[in-house]
Amino acid sequence: MDYSSEHSVRVPETDVDESKQEVINIMVSIAADERLLAEYIKTISIMKKRINNKRSKLYKKCNHSFFRDSSCASDDIFKYVCKKCKLYKGIY
Ligand SMILES: [Zn+2]
Repeated sequence: MDYSSEHSVRVPETDVDESKQEVINIMVSIAADERLLAEYIKTISIMKKRINNKRSKLYKKCNHSFFRDSSCASDDIFKYVCKKCKLYKGIY
């Protein structure tokens, strides 16, 4: 029996249409996920800024009580952490 490529890859027209539709569906689904991802990235960026602004405000308001952070390496810039607000000395 002849299993040449022409015969083995030929598929009925309806299968080709279904395959095309599946490709389109997957592409549409990827595009939807990419839009969602872009929204999430934007939200993450906004939240990071909000948190940073709040930490900055907290740093200015707190009556700090710094102690040496033993988990820091000796050459770390931020060696002292406040036991009240948990922020490092000199971070803002
Ligand atoms: Zn503090």
